[in-house]
Amino acid sequence: MVEYDVIIIGAGSVGVPTALAMVRKGLKTFVIDSLPSVAQGDNKHAIGGIRATHSHKGKILVCQRSLEIFSKWEENYSEDIWWEQGGYVFLAYTEEHEKLLKETVKIQKNYGLKISYVDSERIKELIPGINEKGLLGGTFSPEDGNASPLLALHSFYRQSCDLGCEYHFNEKVIDIITNKNETLGVKTSRGIYKSRFIINAAGGKAKDVGNIVGVPTPVEPESHEAGITEPVRKFFSPMVVDISPYEDTIFGNSSNYYFYQNMEGKILFCLTPSPKIPGFDRRETSSFLPQISKRMLQLLPRLSNIKIRRTWRGLYPMTPDGNPIVGKVNEIEGYVNAVGMCGQGFMLGPGLGELLSRLVTDKISFQDKEILETFSNNRDFGRIEELK
Ligand SMILES: Cc1cc2nc3c(=O)[nH]c(=O)nc-3n(C[C@H](O)[C@H](O)[C@H](O)COP(=O)(O)OP(=O)(O)OC[C@H]3O[C@@H](n4cnc5c(N)ncnc54)[C@H](O)[C@@H]3O)c2cc1C
Repeated sequence: MVEYDVIIIGAGSVGVPTALAMVRKGLKTFVIDSLPSVAQGDNKHAIGGIRATHSHKGKILVCQRSLEIFSKWEENYSEDIWWEQGGYVFLAYTEEHEKLLKETVKIQKNYGLKISYVDSERIKELIPGINEKGLLGGTFSPEDGNASPLLALHSFYRQSCDLGCEYHFNEKVIDIITNKNETLGVKTSRGIYKSRFIINAAGGKAKDVGNIVGVPTPVEPESHEAGITEPVRKFFSPMVVDISPYEDTIFGNSSNYYFYQNMEGKILFCLTPSPKIPGFDRRETSSFLPQISKRMLQLLPRLSNIKIRRTWRGLYPMTPDGNPIVGKVNEIEGYVNAVGMCGQGFMLGPGLGELLSRLVTDKISFQDKEILETFSNNRDFGRIEELK
């Protein structure tokens, strides 16, 4: 029987860049996914936002590295993943949000992030046609950006295959084989495979995988919808995030929503319903479009005649505090979590993959150790990040 150094459960936003980082370290790596091909879980539901401007230390540091990888990808591998450095704008329409954003900027600047609080005039330049009524200003982080989740994952996948990574699709991991609290391998719907390390990168199904080995994994999926318009001439570049809560007695309340115009001129948008919708439901609703179009037209009236091409619904694999769970566990040697990516798995994936490759080869730096502490499954899940 072939013996692998690393088996990764899940060929998604995290599993694929992690596999690439592993084969680059010379590790014999095998990725198993129950779906028919790469990126068919929730990666393909992401709209492609990539930012390092979080307020959580671990996420900031990991996404700084992800940004480097995404932004240099085409230069390094001659494959276009539609990377665009358009920046992120968080809007302030209330004094409370202005205060919150200004406070967050202070933390972010301490990590060397390029971000500033700008006035409403600058916001109007960045987003021509934005509703100026009540607009106080917002943050602008020009180094953040976006890319195509499907193009990126397929490119990472090809690179990892070129370096010898093996993938099996249409194959489900149904058991993890252990002996005296040490992983030996996995049992799938088609066979048994041996490995020293097993990485749980199962996205929305991470808790089920944790249950196999009795490792508590507080990851609960939540349904989120998104959509895309027809292409129009490019008129703005940043990802626009509106953090205002919105009451809609007919179609349902929502908290934040975000959108950007991609390289083809299409606008991609996504909304957080309030209350949140826990569960695995990926069927689109009839209320999402009326909900989000009302908000988007209020914010950017010039969108009124644009046609929407399609909508879709996917899952955020949520943790209680909105931050990922990554690293080794006390219960079983060789078992590693890379789960609970919430609404940020695409942007976290490449940076996390490299971190995990250093973890399994015992090459973690002092900073890696600090990051892993913030992502530990034994942390206090009571602290919630302000700008999730
Ligand atoms: C509408 C929407 C918009 C989003 N926008 C963004 C964004 O702009 N930026 C961003 O960074 N993130 C965004 N996200 C979040 C992002 O999609 C997720 O965080 C990310 O895909 C999670 O990555 P993952 O690798 O953990 O899971 P996935 O990408 O879902 O991969 C998990 C894989 O594991 C497989 N699997 C599970 N169990 C098993 C098993 N037992 N055996 C074999 N295979 C198994 C699944 O089939 C799946 O392919 C968005 C999500 C949604 C729904």
